[in-house]
Amino acid sequence: MAKRDYYEVLGVGREATENDLKKAYRQLARKYHPDVNPGNKEAEERFKEINEAYEVLSDPEKRARYDQFGHAGTDPGGFGQGDFQGGFGGFGDIFEMFFGGGFGGTQRGPRKGADLQLDLDISFEEAAFGVERDVQVTRQEECPACQGSGAEPGTHPSRCPACHGTGQIKVTQATPLGRFQTVRTCSQCHGSGKVINTPCKECRGRGAVRRERKIHVRVPAGVDTGSRLRISGEGEPGTLGGPPGDLYVDISVRPHPLFRRRDFDVLSDHSVSFTQAALGAELQVPTLDGHVKVKIPEGTQSGTSFRLKNKGIPRLRGYGRGDHHVRIMVITPTNLSERQKELLRELERSLSQENRAGEKGFFEKMKDAFMG
Ligand SMILES: [Zn+2]
Ligand SMILES: [Zn+2]
Repeated sequence: MAKRDYYEVLGVGREATENDLKKAYRQLARKYHPDVNPGNKEAEERFKEINEAYEVLSDPEKRARYDQFGHAGTDPGGFGQGDFQGGFGGFGDIFEMFFGGGFGGTQRGPRKGADLQLDLDISFEEAAFGVERDVQVTRQEECPACQGSGAEPGTHPSRCPACHGTGQIKVTQATPLGRFQTVRTCSQCHGSGKVINTPCKECRGRGAVRRERKIHVRVPAGVDTGSRLRISGEGEPGTLGGPPGDLYVDISVRPHPLFRRRDFDVLSDHSVSFTQAALGAELQVPTLDGHVKVKIPEGTQSGTSFRLKNKGIPRLRGYGRGDHHVRIMVITPTNLSERQKELLRELERSLSQENRAGEKGFFEKMKDAFMG
């Protein structure tokens, strides 16, 4: 994939000042930080890209080289790279700048809520044409008694005495390279800046309770077993102001007594009698749209499929529908009466004569197919 322009990545113009860059960078890094987007590969890629862009543009020398030569001026492997250490050099420092503490470990800053998952069984027709359902999920919700504060109604959380409500503790370290100030999450309030003196009885100070929730799910036409719907924001709530997780609904489609499915086509079998196949017939074939008239020509072989255009399943997020393929199955007659057997014997004699004439006629093909 071609590398994007670093200015474009940060959403700033070429004339951007150091301050503009820093501002743009901070905003984007907060938005795409892996801690705020757990498991989101796209956000992770964006975050790397943002860091790489900032690493180059925040360094006047590298920026000048980039302005002159583009990516070739800064890429490892490009010319003139010299001291370039790759895009991830400043990762740890950048992380501390925003969230304090080391990489990983205990919670800090806003976090997206966990995702929820549930399975939904629907009928073949519902999968074909879509359906709306109310589903029950059990999830954490803001405690109604304390409105999520965790403090008993009538009381209020107070400012954390350890961090004075900032949620962070500044630590100054002396090193051979000079004094460094790092910022850590306050361990007493876990970064919230507040402590609860009288916990809410309803939620025991957690600010959340487990609740059954009815959620309206709109299943689009064309889904199939294995389709996964994402219902944004209906998962567990986020913490410290983070966004809620999502609800994933995994579809499974119950088998149909008549229809099978191949992508967006519907397949079915239709039985005809030996004589219908031989003489041709007009059939009433069940489809998703009800019965459809199908004419089979004389001499139709068992196993022949006929296509009913646009009688299949609507294409998911697309236009048009698949087709319905009906396969003709010829039933060999059983429990024949003496009279019927006599007629068939007569037919057999007639077919043998035709055969002796050399030419394999249509009745002979019929015999091959159905009698033996
Ligand atoms: Zn509560
Ligand atoms: Zn604190």
